[in-house]
Amino acid sequence: MAADKERYVQMAAELADKQVTLIAVSKTKPADEILELYHLGQRDFGENYVQELTEKEQLLPKDIRWHFIGHLQTNKVKLIAPFVHLIHGVDSGRLLEEINKQGRKNNRVIDILLQLHISNEETKYGLTQKELNDLINAPTVASRVYVRINGLMGMASFTGEEEKLRQEFRVLKAVFDQYKQVHTPNFNLRTLSMGMSSDYKIAIAEGSTMVRIGSLLFGAR
Ligand SMILES: *Cc1c(COP(=O)(O)O)cnc(C)c1O
Repeated sequence: MAADKERYVQMAAELADKQVTLIAVSKTKPADEILELYHLGQRDFGENYVQELTEKEQLLPKDIRWHFIGHLQTNKVKLIAPFVHLIHGVDSGRLLEEINKQGRKNNRVIDILLQLHISNEETKYGLTQKELNDLINAPTVASRVYVRINGLMGMASFTGEEEKLRQEFRVLKAVFDQYKQVHTPNFNLRTLSMGMSSDYKIAIAEGSTMVRIGSLLFGAR
């Protein structure tokens, strides 16, 4: 198998035009396929599994920006804390606390996105709007100086219904806009991570600034 270079070049240009950041989601794909896109200029790659990510980080060029997009277990934060560029799916205060602790140990501020639950599917992770509000307004946010809340992330329902996807992305964008006005040293919403292979065009139309694309670039998993 090989990465779809032609599609990559086209998509990278299209997204650059729109000032949307492209994350190439390389989970389960081997290092040589990642390098194919790296040599075409891609630097942002997304992974879902901690062990796979740490192995690839060892192997691959150091200027790759690694995005952790899966569900992160608290006890595994320490393994990616030294190098991770952005953690997308943060959905609890406990996880924030641990990221802060590992940031301090590594003497670096770790950028994260809070994940909002926008689909009607039970199985997907993420905060409810109330939990998100509570988390953002908690007095502990300001004291966690080694973690910077940089934006929001969400996953829409697994459906082909365009109108439903649109509605879900709109909810996320509205919450993003609501909090975008707030700026503190460790809270500054700039990134809205929404959209994957099947729905990225709709996500961009609804205001996404960062899309996570796997199968369109690397083929089915
Ligand atoms: C796997 C994954 C993607 C990429 O999915 P594709 O449909 O292959 O583009 C995006 N976001 C998250 C959170 C994922 O787990």
